[in-house]
Amino acid sequence: MKCPVQCFECGTFSMELDLSQDHQHIACERCERIWCAICLGRVEFTVSKEWLKQQRVAHLN
Ligand SMILES: [Zn+2]
Ligand SMILES: [Zn+2]
Repeated sequence: MKCPVQCFECGTFSMELDLSQDHQHIACERCERIWCAICLGRVEFTVSKEWLKQQRVAHLN
C-alpha cells in the first residue's frame, strides 16, 4: 500500500511511501532529493538521474 508523502523541502506531495516496506528511500523529483523515513534528519543526498531511472525500473518489475 502506498501513500503520498509531502516533501520536506518543497512541501508538495510528490513522493510515495510504500507502507509495506520498513526502510526505503523516497525521492522528490522536483527538488531532486532523496528522503528516508528512517534516516531522515541524518542522511540527505542529492538524487541522480540514474537513481530515478533505477527506481522507475524497479517499480515496473
Ligand atoms: Zn520537493
Ligand atoms: Zn534510509
